[in-house]
This record gives sequence, C-alpha cells and structure tokens, in this order.
Amino acid sequence: MQSYAYGFPRLGGNREYKKVIEGYWNKKLSEEELRQGIHKLEDEMLTTYQTYVDKFPVGEMTLYDNMFDTALMVGLYNAKDLDGYYNLCRGKDALEMTKWFNTNYHYLVPQFGASFESSLFKPSWNKPKETKDRYQKGVPYLIGPFTFLKLSKGIRPEKFGDYFLSLATVYSELIKGFEEVHIDEPAFVMEMQAQEIDLIKKAYQKIAASPARINLFTYYDSVDFLKDLYELPVSAIGLDFVNGKRNLENIRRHGFPRGKTLIAGIVNGRNIWRTDIAQAVALLKELHAFTEDIVISNAAPLYHLPISVRNEDLDQQLLKRISFAREKLEELQLISRAYEGEVADTGRTGEYNTNFGLNNKVKQRIKNLRDKDFVKDVCYAERVNKQRKILGLPLFPTTTIGSFPQTAQVRSKRAAYRSGKLNQAQYKQFIREKITDLIKFQEEIGLDVLVHGEFERTDMVEFFAQKLEGIATTKNGWIISYGTRGYRPPIIYGDISRPHPMTVEEIKFARGLTKKSVKGMLTGPVTILAWSFVREDIPLGEVGYQIALCLQDEIRDYERVGIKIIQIDEPAFREKTPIKKRDWADYFDWAVNAFNLASQSKAQTQIHTHMCYSEFGEIMEYIVKMDFDVITIEASRSRGDILNSFEKINFDRQIGLGVWDIHSPAVPAPEDMKKTVERALKVFPKENFWINPDCGLKTRDWPEVKASLKNMLKVTGELRSEVKAGQ
Ligand code: GLN
Ligand code: ZN
Repeated sequence: MQSYAYGFPRLGGNREYKKVIEGYWNKKLSEEELRQGIHKLEDEMLTTYQTYVDKFPVGEMTLYDNMFDTALMVGLYNAKDLDGYYNLCRGKDALEMTKWFNTNYHYLVPQFGASFESSLFKPSWNKPKETKDRYQKGVPYLIGPFTFLKLSKGIRPEKFGDYFLSLATVYSELIKGFEEVHIDEPAFVMEMQAQEIDLIKKAYQKIAASPARINLFTYYDSVDFLKDLYELPVSAIGLDFVNGKRNLENIRRHGFPRGKTLIAGIVNGRNIWRTDIAQAVALLKELHAFTEDIVISNAAPLYHLPISVRNEDLDQQLLKRISFAREKLEELQLISRAYEGEVADTGRTGEYNTNFGLNNKVKQRIKNLRDKDFVKDVCYAERVNKQRKILGLPLFPTTTIGSFPQTAQVRSKRAAYRSGKLNQAQYKQFIREKITDLIKFQEEIGLDVLVHGEFERTDMVEFFAQKLEGIATTKNGWIISYGTRGYRPPIIYGDISRPHPMTVEEIKFARGLTKKSVKGMLTGPVTILAWSFVREDIPLGEVGYQIALCLQDEIRDYERVGIKIIQIDEPAFREKTPIKKRDWADYFDWAVNAFNLASQSKAQTQIHTHMCYSEFGEIMEYIVKMDFDVITIEASRSRGDILNSFEKINFDRQIGLGVWDIHSPAVPAPEDMKKTVERALKVFPKENFWINPDCGLKTRDWPEVKASLKNMLKVTGELRSEVKAGQ
C-alpha cells in the first residue's frame, strides 16, 4: 500500500521559520540568510516526507502564505523584490487576512479590482518546480484555480466563469513540462451550484491540455458532486474520510472509477489523537471493494498540527494517545504495513477504552442539566432597567476590550518567572503594579468601564486551559496561525472542571482600586474549544457545556466579590461553523447553548460579549440567540454590511461597534471615529450605543494607545454635548 502525505508544518521544530523571517524584518538577517534559513527548513521538511511516505508535494514552502504566492504566480499582484513581497503581506499595502475555511489559519485574501480583465492573468512566477534530482518522490505543488478564485474577493459573479477559464489556461502553461502535479482544491467541499460544477469540468479540461498527471486533493469535508468529480481528467483523487464522513457513503453509492487512483485521507490532519490502526485497515478493506487502486494519505494538511510529540513532557497516559505531524507520517507507514499483513498487532486500538481523564462528577452535572438552565428567567427588557440603575453609566459609555500593551517588560518578567528567576510572590507583585498603573491611567483619561489589562495572560485560551482540569498545555506544540505567527493549542483530554477560581484574584484587586466599574474578563466556551485539540469520544456540545459550567462558577465568584459587568469573549464563534450550510443548525444549537449556559448570572449583572475577525452577516440569526446584554464587535473592514445586518434583525440590545481598527498601527482621527458613530446612530438608538476600540490592545504600543484613546474620548465628549444641546 503506497502512501502520500502533504501539508507538513513549515514552522520548524523550534519555530526557525519565525526566527529567520522576523530576523529579516528586523534587519538582523540579510536576504541571503533568510533564503538559506528557509531553504534549510524546506529541506528538512522534504527529507522527513521522504523518510516515511512514497509521494509528497514540493513547493509548499512559502515566505509568508501560499494563497498570496498563487496570486503572484498568476499575475494578480506584482512584487518587484522581497521587500515588495512583504509590503503586500504586512506593510502599508497589505492584503486583508481572513480564516482559511473553518480552521484557525489565516490567509491573505487576493482582491480583484473592478477593472480586472481575465486577459491580465499570465504565468508570472515559476514557483512550482520539479526536483526529481533530489527528491524522486516529490510532486510540484499548486493551489487549484477554483479554490483560488472562490476564496478571493471582489470578483463579480458574472465574471467568475470568464476568470476561471482563463486562469485554467494559465495553469496548463505553468505545469507544462511536468510529469505529475499536486493540486489542492479544498473549495470543492463547499456547497456547489450546478453552474460551478460545469465550469470546473470545462476548466479542468483546459488544465489537462498539458500532459502532466494531476493528483487532485480535496479535504476538510466531503465532496457533494462526487460523480461529476470522477469525470475530471485527473489521475488521482484525494478524499477526506475523517472530516468528510459522507465521502464513504457516496462511494458506496457511486463506486469509484477505473483508471483513477483513490487517495484515501484516513489519518486526521486536524486533531492529535492517534489513529486506530485496525479501524483504518478495515476502512481500506471496504474501499478496496470499490477500487484496487488506492494510496493512503493524511486527511487535511498536517500544518494544523505541531511538529512532533518527542520533546513534550506530558503525562505518560496522554503521551501514548497522541501523535503530531511527524507521528502521523509514522502512522501512515504503520497502516500500510498492517494492511499488507506485515504487522499483526499494532497495539493501537481503543485509545479511549480506559477511564483516563474522565470525571463522574462532571458527567453527572451535565446529565442533570435541564432546558431551563440555558435560559435566563429575567428578559433583557427588564434586566436593562435594573442594570442602568445600578451602574449609572453616562450616555455613550466608553470602554476597551480587555488587554493593554503586552510590552517587552511584561514578556520578560513572565519569562523570568517561568525560568525561576522571579518567584511567584515577585511576579504577582509585578502584575499588581501593572494593574494599579493601568487603573490609574484609565481613570485619568476618563474611561467609564475599566479593565485590568490581562497582563497575567499569555494567550486568552492557554491561560484558562492551565487553570482547568481535563486540559493539558504543551511546551512546544506550536501551530501556524498566519504569516510567522503561531499559537499552542491546549489539549482537552478529559472531562473539564475548575479546581479553583481562575481570574477572580486580579479582577477583585483591580476593582478595589477604583470607584468605577471593572469588567470581569472571560474567554467563552466556544472559543476555548475552537482553539484547542478536543477529545473526540465526548460529543463536542458536551465539552462545550462542561467549559460553560466552569465559567458559570467563575461568574458566581465574580458576583460574590461585587463585580457587576462581565465580558465573555467569543472571537472564534464564527470559526467553528461547518463549511456546509446544511450543517449549521446543529453546530449553532450547542454553540449558542454553551454561551447561554456560561453566562447565567443575576439579572443585575451586565453580560458583555466580544467577537471579531469574521463576517457576521450570515450568522446574525444565531448571534441574537445569545442572551448577552451588550456586544462589542469588530467592524473596521465592512462597517456598512454589519450595520445592515443589525438593522435587518431589529437589534434591541446594546452594542459597541469598534470605532478604532486596532489591527492598524495608525492613530485614528477623531473625525473618522465620529463618522463611524454617526452612521451607526442611524441604526441604533443612542441609549444603546457604546464607544470602544474594535479589539484588545495587547499588540499595540503605548504611544498609539494613549493618542487613540484620547481621540476616542474627545469624540465621545463632543457627541454627549451635541445630544445635550439638542434636547
Ligand atoms: N479580551 C481579549 C483582549 O482584549 C479579546 C481578544 C480577542 O478578541 N481576540 O485581548
Ligand atoms: Zn477581538
């Protein structure tokens, strides 16, 4: 049984990717050194593939992002040198960034201008290369033209077909002379219209004008138009049998065509649990009844996983249940040998057949939940009156989203604490000083609802994971989020409980320093789940409820110490949404419930939520089912659209539509902020409107923060006077 792997992480075992590229940005490394560093990483990656599998793509390495590289390759952008390249990635002409399907990888979104003509596509960069001299098993890699266009912006629907067919011609030229190519078309798993399927057939005929054999990969879900897919002139078809369960059903129905290879994605590329080898072999045997021409592979690219478990010192029980990218390659090898009967017993079955990580008390609590536990007994209309009386906030209350600059000082103190140079008391003292300074600062400039600054938190999910039972965190389990940025997803390995309060100490301390309200700050259940690896034998919704109950307990503790406003961040609420709309209802059912369970509180406690980085229009009907009192939302990119969506649903609660795009280093001008507010006030009654930045300030510097907040408060003052004068 042959094997084929793809998507191996590019970060490097010690995040060398980040070090060399950022080294170049900071002018510590030359272009030559950068290129050498990247070349070395690519070499390691290809050698790793070559060690374990029979085939793999070459050319997946990028200096920033492969969607962007594709845009350059077909002539949509032009970067005359490396600095020109990075200017488009992260400089003043940077492309917009958005989530790649339902993952937490962010790609640069190619943007088509209104005047773009299909004749402008041309082969502009021979990025895919054959490397048979060094890697006999390597196949040149490309993102397919359909996925590229489907995930781009600014293409008028009536232009799509014309663009697609011209682009296909460009692809056929790009691959001319190759024996074989690897084409990724994950967008083939989206819900598809008949017209699009027709176009795909036409376009792939054009691509196939070049003699190269095509290995076509789909992943993240199942393909709805499998029968049509079989007609494409490609030699191998990759299907995801892990996240695309319906692929198997479809094969049972339609069989598999002779003369093509089935690349069966059976090793999970998105989760870390070891593959049940016996089960994988059984699946292969079933597939074998439909075709004898099978190659096994990972399902979904491996860059959603850290590189290797080798250097982790996790609990032995956990360690023997997980595998990261490198170990997934080993699994492919193992499955192949087990299939051939070379190894009889792999000893890898029933990973969950023990009580490891399970907690009956938690299970019981979930069992005892009743419908009423998800619903507040006092409705918003009544809550708001109580809250207004207690909080006594002015018109247009001002606040921030939670974090303040995580400066070099904050990071170095944390590092010192971790390495033992600072003891716990010293570190705590340092955090208290930061909180004290920040409360003073916020009072001085005149914010209404204050925050403690989140200085003690490295990451909004990892911080909670470290305090909860049933979740482990890793030392070096980095995965890529965008560009050179990585994060370490925690591992939810069991039932989740909260042994102690998690955040109360800092919030209570902050509250003691001021007469103003201080917000309690929590990360929501859906976001904790979305940014972790989750155990799979407990239903996702149930895991969500377990986290929700921990947060609910935390809220009770807040209330006990007199906290009156609590924010539950859900920036990943949109991210977990299934790719196919027909699966949405099931997802939102538990996601909304989890939020509502977490946010059970006294009627007089004001619950905020915060969301960002997504298109919200489509999910508005679900957002309104979340029973918060105030929502703060990122809206810098498409304010108009967001306003329309809120207007359509007659939103009657309070909202803080970000007036400052914190992802840009520019200090926003008061006039611009004012325009934003004035536009919003056409949709929302003034009594319901909050004024705040659109996300946390942790990545910003103090000078910008001071200047921008001052502007924000100046505008608020003007708006309040105008209202007064008009009365
Ligand atoms: N409270 C968090 C912060 O301010 C929210 C972060 C986020 O939305 N991504 O950093
Ligand atoms: Zn945010």
